[in-house]
Parts: sequence; C-alpha cells; structure tokens
Amino acid sequence: MLSPVEHAPLAPHCTLRIGGPARYLVEAADEATVADAVAWAAARDLPIRVLGGGSNLVIADEGVEGLVLKIGLRGVSTRALPGAVEVTAAAGESWDGVVQHTVERGWAGLECLSGIPGLVGATPIQNVGAYGQEVSDTLTAVRALDRESGRVVTLGPAECGFGYRDSLFKRGAPGRHVVLAVSYRLTPDGPPNVRYADIARDLETRGLARPSLPQVRETVLKVRRSKSMVLDPGDPNARSCGSFFLNPIVDPGALAAIDARAAGLAMPRWPQPDGRVKLSAAWLIERAGFNRGQSDGPVGLSTRHTLAIVCHDGARAADVAAFARRVRAGVEQRFGVRLHPEPIFWGSLSLD
Ligand SMILES: Cc1cc2nc3c(=O)[nH]c(=O)nc-3n(C[C@H](O)[C@H](O)[C@H](O)COP(=O)(O)OP(=O)(O)OC[C@H]3O[C@@H](n4cnc5c(N)ncnc54)[C@H](O)[C@@H]3O)c2cc1C
Repeated sequence: MLSPVEHAPLAPHCTLRIGGPARYLVEAADEATVADAVAWAAARDLPIRVLGGGSNLVIADEGVEGLVLKIGLRGVSTRALPGAVEVTAAAGESWDGVVQHTVERGWAGLECLSGIPGLVGATPIQNVGAYGQEVSDTLTAVRALDRESGRVVTLGPAECGFGYRDSLFKRGAPGRHVVLAVSYRLTPDGPPNVRYADIARDLETRGLARPSLPQVRETVLKVRRSKSMVLDPGDPNARSCGSFFLNPIVDPGALAAIDARAAGLAMPRWPQPDGRVKLSAAWLIERAGFNRGQSDGPVGLSTRHTLAIVCHDGARAADVAAFARRVRAGVEQRFGVRLHPEPIFWGSLSLD
C-alpha cells in the first residue's frame, strides 16, 4: 500500500536548496514501488515528476502539484562481453560511485565523467557529459517504465535520440519514461580519454605522459573542484545546479552576425559535425560584462565559474529566475544570442 508524504519539502532534495513542497512525495526503493506510484498517480489523475539527486532542478517557490517520485533503486551488476564489460547500474545509484567503481577496476569509458553530481537514472536524460566524454559514448541500454503503455521497456542508444545535453527523454516526451537502470559498455584496460586542454595540462604538470584511469579521475576531480563543480558542502559556491546555461550552437549565418558584434575579440568556437558551431556560454556571459561572484542580493554567479548561478541565504527560486533573466538579456543585447537554461524547471517557474 503506497503512502506518499503530503506537502513534503523539496528544497532539501535539490542542490540549489530552494523551492516549495511536493503535494505528494514517495520514495521507491524497488521497481514494484515505482509501478505502484505510477498507478497511484494515474488513478487520481495527478502528474508525476521523477526526482533523482536534484542537481539539475530549479523548483518553484510555491512547490509542485501531483506526485514526486524519488528514485531509490540500488544495485550494480557486470557482464563480460568479448573485449568489453557491460556495467548495469540501478537508477538510484550515485553516479560518481559508479564511475569510481569502474575506474578502480580499470574499465575505460566513464573516467572524464568523474565528480558529476546526481544519480545514474538521470544520466541519459540530458546525455550527461564533461571533458570530451558523454554517456552516449558508452551507453548500451536504458531500462525504463513507459508510463504510456504501462510496460517496462529496454531502449537502445539509437532510440534515446541523444544530442548535446539532450535526449528523447528530455525533448520528445518528457516524463513518459521512468528510468529504472542504465547499462554502459566499457573497455577493460582501455586507454583513458584525454581530449580536453585543462585535463591534459594538469596531467602534464604532474609529469604523467601516459596516465592511468585513476590518475585521469584524480585530475578531473581536481580541475572540477577548482571550479566548484563537485558537491562540497563547505564551498560557498555549493548551492548551484552546475552550468546554468547551455553552450549555444549556431548556424554559419548567425555566427557571422555574432562575430561582427564581437568586433575582433577571439571568440572560442567548436565546429560541429552538422556544420553548425558551438560557442562558449561562459565566454559570452563574461564578455557581456558579468563577473564571477557578481550578485543580486542572495543570488549570483559562482566566484569560480561564470556559468554557475549560486544561491546564498534567503534565496528564492524567483530570485534565481530573475538573475538568470538578467544574464540572458545582457548576452542577448551584447551579442544577439539567446541562451537557454540547462536545468529543468519544476512548477510555474520559467525564464520567459
Ligand atoms: C556542481 C554541479 C556540477 C555539474 N556538472 C555537470 C557536468 O559536468 N555535466 C553534466 O552533464 N551535468 C552536470 N551537472 C548537472 C547534473 O548533475 C546532471 O544533469 C545530473 O545527471 C542530474 O542528476 P540528478 O539525479 O541530480 O537529476 P535531477 O536533478 O533529480 O533530475 C534532472 C532531470 O532528470 C529527470 N530524472 C531524474 N532521474 C530520473 C529517472 N530515474 N527517470 C526519469 N527521469 C529522471 C528529472 O525528472 C529531471 O527532469 C552538474 C550539477 C552540479 C550541481
């Protein structure tokens, strides 16, 4: 018998530590409880929202209607494949715990994704990525409860529609699938992936020409820590949801217009396979006149990373949205580029 908690505070469940309560909240430690919760909400015609580690969420001050389903499924298993190992982790496992587990065993494929907060079940939602790796590089299967058919389905990578910080789960029919477990194909004794300049530089400083997986993980964690991009409760920048804006991807025509406005500044850019070009949201924000640590009352930019919006004592979700709007408007005015938020907004909140 499902007994959701009524009017349950959500702020303690998310890394920004803001937002109002859930009308109903239930935690599912097994797949049967997930199915019961979905049926319970359907019988009452209530919306469902799935909660992982709350590290990519901005929850409105008035809270959310319906049922919030906190994912607490645990368990990690492995299967040997020819020349590879497939790791399957339940959706409620800590993501970084799984990365550590694979790195310690010498299985390459997730090492650059060290230190990303949150749970396994959220990794396919925005195709989590960092330092030249994305989960779509290694993901082989997503086991999920399809709320439309009421059945448990297994989706292959092609069905997930992955893109840059994007997937079918986020873009296509948000909320349709409750992710139960995710599988990743890794390479035993494989070489670490070192594609990103910050990571290569730190390894070089450490004199590591052929670094091991644990050494790459150490470097990634060190670089992330220097940017307040790991969860550390003692860090004054701790209350964030990581990067607040996506790096914009523009077509060549738009790029020419932005370049004209940038008037000779060396704007970083990364050509994409489809001919478009990815720009740096952090660079645009800085060149639009915003500085690290700049704040409006209890909300501001991280002192270590222009792309992270952080909350301080007394912050409300409305303050976060107002500050984000100000940053977005500044960039749009200076460069003609509209930034889009990376986190998911719950409740009535939006930037528009
Ligand atoms: C300090 C910091 C650094 C970060 N760095 C990075 C980074 O380098 N790269 C990166 O990609 N992200 C980064 N993030 C963002 C965030 O950590 C990731 O997006 C993470 O995957 C979110 O996981 P979560 O469990 O906290 O999800 P939540 O925030 O709880 O949920 C996010 C979304 O996923 C949905 N969801 C969660 N679990 C499930 C499930 N089991 N089934 C269906 N839907 C689900 C939710 O409904 C919501 O829409 C960072 C965040 C912080 C705070």
